[in-house]
Amino acid sequence: MNTAELAEVGEKLHEALGKEYYLTYAGLKQEPEFGQIYDRFHVLLEEDALQAARRSDSATLLEWVVGVRVGRKVASLEEEQLVKERATVLRFDDQEVPLLRAAIELANSPDRDYRIALDNTRSREAAKVLNPIRLKRFELEHEEVCTLGYADYVTAMGELAGIDLYGLNAAAQAFLENTQDMFRESLSQLVRARVGVTLDQLLRSDSAWTFRADQYDAAFESHRMIETAIGQMSEMGLDAQQGGRVRFDTEEREGKQPRAFCVPVRVPEEVYLVIRPFGGHNDYRTFWHELGHAMHFSAPSRELPFAARWLGDNSVTEGFAMLWDHLTMNPVWLERYTDLSREDISNLAFELAVQELHLVRRYAAKLSYELSLHSGDFTNAASEYAATLSEATLFEYSEDDYLIDVDPGFYCARYLRAWQMEAQLASTLTERYDHDWFRNPEAGAVVRSLTEQGQATPADLLIQEVTDSELSFQPIIRRLETLLC
Ligand SMILES: [Zn+2]
Repeated sequence: MNTAELAEVGEKLHEALGKEYYLTYAGLKQEPEFGQIYDRFHVLLEEDALQAARRSDSATLLEWVVGVRVGRKVASLEEEQLVKERATVLRFDDQEVPLLRAAIELANSPDRDYRIALDNTRSREAAKVLNPIRLKRFELEHEEVCTLGYADYVTAMGELAGIDLYGLNAAAQAFLENTQDMFRESLSQLVRARVGVTLDQLLRSDSAWTFRADQYDAAFESHRMIETAIGQMSEMGLDAQQGGRVRFDTEEREGKQPRAFCVPVRVPEEVYLVIRPFGGHNDYRTFWHELGHAMHFSAPSRELPFAARWLGDNSVTEGFAMLWDHLTMNPVWLERYTDLSREDISNLAFELAVQELHLVRRYAAKLSYELSLHSGDFTNAASEYAATLSEATLFEYSEDDYLIDVDPGFYCARYLRAWQMEAQLASTLTERYDHDWFRNPEAGAVVRSLTEQGQATPADLLIQEVTDSELSFQPIIRRLETLLC
């Protein structure tokens, strides 16, 4: 097998997986059959494919072939998890809540006793049903990369991704340290107003409600969402639907995932953005995020190689998704695209900034925990998980979630790099095109030319090329300080 053949089969595999993902998660198909798809493309699992990737001198192709092998190993466990998640119903105090609805209920329930009862049942049941599957999954992942000759899982993931995971972790821990006081102060203000308890009484079941910002729902109506996005993008000289390549699936359908998602089926010609809008700021934020992915996947030319269109550093696509979703947190954007009063905008922007800081801190803690989880034999991981996450977020976490709350393959590192990329890019665009750069066709042209490269360039090099600076947490801190201090 040569590099061209590898890429040709690879593209067909991803088109098939993309289609299956779309159909299953959009509620158009009941039983997922990812395993069968991998079976059809078994040549990619053979030694020949691995050798071809090694010979190609492309770090991206090698990372991908290893990822496909791991993906095949865990495909049946992933299907089992999905089926069990759908079948699990939480029963407590005469109530019945499907497991997959728990997150929505937690975000929408002002009744603290109800949230605590629901979340206790959720974490206990999820641990019982899902932890054995997750444990098996991580064991298989470790085993697979070790048979390929890597010393251990952490080394393999860092080397294959070309990311210095320990260096990123050191910067993330410094971020936690540097933002500790700002977080304590701003969170206690928000918690006093919304939850009515002190910081030392906070539980994880309070977190979604703390950041729900429901008092502003009327300004974020679901029926205006797509129209607002199309309008704002056109002011930037961009087409949100990319000449029909981005397809919005907005129909109400049983079995459709409650959260919006984006999935490419052919790159760049066929990219789905699936939503089930309920209204509220979070819907807008999620929609703009997925639109960022959709506009990124539908931007590159067909002439670019498979690796640049489908593979590469996912920090980049997450970075473009965040560039768009962070617009909905920007006071200048809120003033232009909502009917909120100045006072409401400043209060909402404050709440969203506290949420942002909470999220980045949560991911900083996840990276440190996941490095430790994947370096050991899983025995003390549960208590370490609860301690690390609780300390960083100030919400008390349950040990039960120590395997469910883990993104396989250190995806948390891509998110952290995406946050860095977004903040640096937004700050450069603001410097060059002013505070309303998101309405400026010249800024739009810059973003378009970057997205047209797909993921040919990893986030650190992309930022260096465009802004002549390194990825760091500094631009995130600077922006948060203007909103929180
Ligand atoms: Zn994303």
